[in-house]
Amino acid sequence: MDCEADAFYRQLPKVELHAHLNGSVSVQTMEKLICRKPDLNIEPSMTAIHSGRRTLDQCFQVFKVIHQLVDSEEDILMVAKDVIKEFAADGVKYLELRSTPREETNTGLTKRRYVETVIEAIRQCKNEEVDIDVRFLVAVDRRNGTDVAMETVKLAEDMMLATDGLVVGLDLSGDPTVGHGRDLLPALERAKNSGMKLALHLSEVPSQCEESELLLNLPPHRIGHGTFLHPEVGGSQSLVDKVVKNSIPLELCLTSNVKGQTVPCYSKHHFQYWYQRGHPVVICTDDKGVFCTELSQEYQLAASTFGLAPEAMWRLSQQAIDCTFAPEGLKQQLKQTWTQLQRQALRE
Ligand code: 5GP
Repeated sequence: MDCEADAFYRQLPKVELHAHLNGSVSVQTMEKLICRKPDLNIEPSMTAIHSGRRTLDQCFQVFKVIHQLVDSEEDILMVAKDVIKEFAADGVKYLELRSTPREETNTGLTKRRYVETVIEAIRQCKNEEVDIDVRFLVAVDRRNGTDVAMETVKLAEDMMLATDGLVVGLDLSGDPTVGHGRDLLPALERAKNSGMKLALHLSEVPSQCEESELLLNLPPHRIGHGTFLHPEVGGSQSLVDKVVKNSIPLELCLTSNVKGQTVPCYSKHHFQYWYQRGHPVVICTDDKGVFCTELSQEYQLAASTFGLAPEAMWRLSQQAIDCTFAPEGLKQQLKQTWTQLQRQALRE
């Protein structure tokens, strides 16, 4: 990568809205986890996709390996703090982390302690004056069905009240080829009614049109990926119309989609489709550890692939602030930070 461009995109203030905690673990943190658990015989090559591409199914296998390495409160605290500090070092000023609460009988981890530990990591980073604001989305793994989804929503509601607004919403993720959104609707509706924001993975693979039609009626507050929404790739105009009518921002993760083979190459990424229409899009990493990327690199790739000038990239990163689930006051503060940093960059 070009050094000057590298520095520009690292310094550009950024907002990260689509980052799965366990997919975001860096090589350095992974080494520490592997040292803690030598008996598992896990090699670093099993936890990240350095080069080449994988099927989506193979990507999901990687998460299973990582989950074996991250199975105690101590692991979660370390992983979450490291991930937050790495995003801050990459110029991310506001981060929404998401993660699926897990219980682990071996270590006595409960789902509640899981969420509380991530919150503790966020608080510790704040106390250590890491230059980043962090909020949390509780993730529902679609594979686990109706009852677990409802249980997760209740936990998220409790945590939203207990954390003074650090828990801001719910994510729907997990293997898109498993389960159907219709079974999760009651849980998603309940979450929305209790004031939670919804960030849903939608149309990540072809063949989810019917599900997307249904879930877009909620409507969600943001869409993860939305790769196959538009008619050119097998989606439909009706899906596009719903997204446009409600002005639902899309979280777009270029490298993740290329490495996971849901898009054929960077230049064919659906970023172009939505960006050209002036629809709100936010560049994100998805799983910076698994896909070996950083948010600054994703911005750089979008700029070079689609021929976008630095001013356009400033605009893109600033517009992402309005797509966050942050309270209005924090949005205003972030906008001021952007303005100050942009003035400073112009003077240099
Ligand atoms: P965690 O929730 O354990 O912090 O992060 C890993 C989990 O996030 C995975 O097991 C999976 O449920 C979800 N995840 C990570 N990346 C993706 C993705 O690209 N698509 C979908 N649908 N889910 C993902």
